[in-house]
Amino acid sequence: MADTRTDYRQLIGGEWVPGGDGTYEIINPATEQVVTEAPEASAADVAAAAAAAAEAFPAWSRTTPQERAALLAAAGAELAKRTPELIPLVISETGATSSVGSLMQIPVAISRFDRYARGALEDLSRPLPPQPIGTTPLAAGALMGGLARKVPVGVVACIAPYNFPTTSMVGKIAPALAVGCTVVMKPAPQDPLCVIELAKILDDVGFPPGVVNIVTGGRAEVGANLVADRNVDMVSFTGSSAVGAMIVAAGAPTMKRQLHELGGKGACIVMADADMDKAVGGIASVWAFHSGQICTAPTRVIVHRSRYDELVGRLAEAARALKVGDPLDAATQVGPVISGVQRSRILGHIEAGIAEGAELVVDGRDPGMDRGYYVGPTLLAGCTNAMSPVREEIFGPVVVVVPYDTDDEAIEIANDSDYGLFSYVFGGDTPAAFEVAKQVRSGRVGINSVQTHHETPFGGFKMSGIGRDGGTWGLDAYTEWQSIIWPS
Ligand code: NAD
Repeated sequence: MADTRTDYRQLIGGEWVPGGDGTYEIINPATEQVVTEAPEASAADVAAAAAAAAEAFPAWSRTTPQERAALLAAAGAELAKRTPELIPLVISETGATSSVGSLMQIPVAISRFDRYARGALEDLSRPLPPQPIGTTPLAAGALMGGLARKVPVGVVACIAPYNFPTTSMVGKIAPALAVGCTVVMKPAPQDPLCVIELAKILDDVGFPPGVVNIVTGGRAEVGANLVADRNVDMVSFTGSSAVGAMIVAAGAPTMKRQLHELGGKGACIVMADADMDKAVGGIASVWAFHSGQICTAPTRVIVHRSRYDELVGRLAEAARALKVGDPLDAATQVGPVISGVQRSRILGHIEAGIAEGAELVVDGRDPGMDRGYYVGPTLLAGCTNAMSPVREEIFGPVVVVVPYDTDDEAIEIANDSDYGLFSYVFGGDTPAAFEVAKQVRSGRVGINSVQTHHETPFGGFKMSGIGRDGGTWGLDAYTEWQSIIWPS
């Protein structure tokens, strides 16, 4: 069990301060017990954090890439050193299983620090060929030289979701700090503790006061106040499409730069010649990986009718074989979802599917746990694309299956969605699967695998987001172009 009664504070302008509006409780999703209390930021805390980041920006943006790289590398090394104590903490606040907690919640954050320590040294600027310009009433003719420079955007509000709190936050702050931005972190209300620990690490390794700040709180106003603040130049948001849309609108009056990584409803086309072992293994990750609380999960299966019975049968077998239980038990594959609210939302989607005529092949509504926010693996088959659990993001361990007859129809069904984040194609003829993949309107499309590639751009089409991060695109996202021109 994690340390349960640490005095968690916010880092604002180099000072560790309590929440101006007191504290709120953090609940362990597996036990429904209070883990500890976290600071509830007041409006004044948020304003002070944004002001501190703005004050720190000029000096930080003038540090050398080498200085920034060294601090990011030091943060990664310190996070690695503290991983053993942070994993139990992140498991207690997120409900992640031991395997997801130990392999994904902290180690991926460490590799992101390492990646963007190297990234600080990447020169993204572009020298342009000299351009002869004739005399005009404005100025004498000259051979004009030009440089397109990448410069830091300024103060970035980093607002993160609950599923991978530390990994997600480091995916924002590491590239932002690498290019010379300053940041205010606003973790999700449900699980801010590891991100507060992360702020301690950044403070300990020597990031100057105000370069990294953190505010936390249980209320939406904390994030909303940050989005409205004039000192914030950019919002880097990961979360639901509904909140993303509110932030886009709220950022308009102050013309915020915005990066949005939003909801997903991953289409997974299983073609007539697909390798069924690969397809079933990939789709079962919706249940076995963080209880389906993954924006990129292949939740919306679109299968060729000739393989429908086989796939549904194999998926049902896979779902029933998964062990639901205590995240601390190493044998557990499916832990709880984050909260009672999220469990009710998921159950609502399952009920809606049944009412609309879907076949409940595997029923996870009551997985037999006597406490904790559990939903077991659930399989809804015989769906049409009009049904609500097929159209809406569920963010839980629920797979829906829609049959198709022709590849064109499969592509049409895949694209008839508000979302377009990460989709998948399973097919035995890779060139044919590649042709299908090219026609799917998604920011990423995986072929015969649900694995990722960290150097490719990441982001969504349609309601799944605006902009891209990942690899060098992550650095790009936190910069503006500045042109410098001169007569040579
Ligand atoms: P959420 O949208 O409810 O909350 C995300 C963050 O926004 C939280 O920190 C929350 O406090 C804050 N927030 C809420 N209202 C706000 C407001 N009015 N102004 C500013 N901030 C506000 O999302 P969640 O439930 O934490 O996470 C699940 C969602 O995140 C899913 O939709 C999932 O698909 C998405 N997600 C997307 C990605 C991606 O990379 N595309 C990754 C992970 C999660």
